[in-house]
Amino acid sequence: MIDFELSPQQKKIRDMVRMFTTNFIRPYSLRADKEKKPPQEFLDACAQFGLGAGAVPKDVGGEGEGVGEDKDPQGESQKNRISIIGSEEMAWGDPGVVLSLPGPGLGGPPVQFMGTDDQKKRFLGIFGPNDIKWGAYALTEPGAGSDAAAVRTTCRKDGDHWVLNGHKFFITNGAKAEWNVVFATVDPKLGRAGQRAFVVEKGTPGFSVLKIEEKMGLRASETADLVFEDCRVPAENLLGGDALYDGSKQGFRGAMKTFDATRPLVASMAVGIARAAFETCRDWVKENYALSQHTHRFHRIADALGVMKREIEIGRGLCWHAAWLLDLKRANSKESSMAKAYTGGMVQRVTAKAIEIMGPDGTLHENLVEKLYRDQKVYDIFEGTGQIQRVVISRRIFSQIT
Ligand SMILES: Cc1cc2nc3c(=O)[nH]c(=O)nc-3n(C[C@H](O)[C@H](O)[C@H](O)COP(=O)(O)OP(=O)(O)OC[C@H]3O[C@@H](n4cnc5c(N)ncnc54)[C@H](O)[C@@H]3O)c2cc1C
Repeated sequence: MIDFELSPQQKKIRDMVRMFTTNFIRPYSLRADKEKKPPQEFLDACAQFGLGAGAVPKDVGGEGEGVGEDKDPQGESQKNRISIIGSEEMAWGDPGVVLSLPGPGLGGPPVQFMGTDDQKKRFLGIFGPNDIKWGAYALTEPGAGSDAAAVRTTCRKDGDHWVLNGHKFFITNGAKAEWNVVFATVDPKLGRAGQRAFVVEKGTPGFSVLKIEEKMGLRASETADLVFEDCRVPAENLLGGDALYDGSKQGFRGAMKTFDATRPLVASMAVGIARAAFETCRDWVKENYALSQHTHRFHRIADALGVMKREIEIGRGLCWHAAWLLDLKRANSKESSMAKAYTGGMVQRVTAKAIEIMGPDGTLHENLVEKLYRDQKVYDIFEGTGQIQRVVISRRIFSQIT
């Protein structure tokens, strides 16, 4: 059955998030970019409206995975669809600020997929609805990001601890996080089978922050360089315990499984950025072009706006499809990668076109599209670059896994 309508629950949550974003994110967007941190007004509002545990399951003390766990009218879970509807709205407000939303963040999915019940309680249970705390996901390191199997950070068992040595970079919220999920290897020669995932808590001896990166866009979001020097992590922080790995590739699979859930989320943020640029540009055109003047030029601009709108809606459709499959617990790697690959290019085209149409006004910081153009670039890099998404899609096509 095909239904292109939002369910009443989905509409209700979209409207609530839109209200929150309009009042507590968009008004501070340009300031957050300049100050390179999320606005305090936004963090206060997150605490006030209980957004601190948005992605934490109810059985470990949170508010539920995503911002709603109710069933859709067909009786299926709709939590992933609700999450992507929310992330489009939030990114519309500001894509840098939205990455500072409190909660376990990208670290949540591996704890949920791989953690024991006790670990889920210990690590996800700390995120109360009114708390301002973060979790983080540390996979990327020099030489391993696109090639996630090439992780060189090592881990060695020593009594009731594991000893980690290595360097992770470009880690969102990694410095301020209560904990990072860190991927390391028992032996680089073992490739995927050697990987283990640990929860490394703030203050663990041997864990330090080397620096916070200066970036072209998403400047309100913290991106950290982390160092592990003989970092002693308690054995009970190995996600899933020893039994999970047992000669298998569960560490690597855990890292990859995260992407099936997070790529549609990130892709829907790109849709939100594109929508913000489109609306800003459309309003500017309304104000600056009277229909009676510049007729030829106006028609060309109206046509360009039509193409932008069409591309945004195609991108949204791909995101919804990937999230719908996930809600139905069906394979969605290809669809997640298609959503991510398409929206990463689409948001670049739409933001560039908005600047082109607005001309010099588009380059002014105060007119927002200049900032959105800087912010969008990373959406074709993190959670797997556009090229890597195309590799995933082609592998699925040729392995006949549709
Ligand atoms: C702002 C920001 C936040 C981030 N947050 C996180 C985070 O929270 N946690 C985390 O772990 N990581 C994070 N990252 C890292 C990000 O996920 C990686 O940088 C990204 O996946 C690219 O990997 P790489 O660094 O290895 O780049 P490379 O792989 O070295 O990319 C360089 C170029 O080579 C291309 N390339 C590589 N392999 C292939 C191939 N097989 N075929 C064709 N082309 C290829 C890439 O597409 C790219 O164009 C973040 C990055 C940024 C910029």
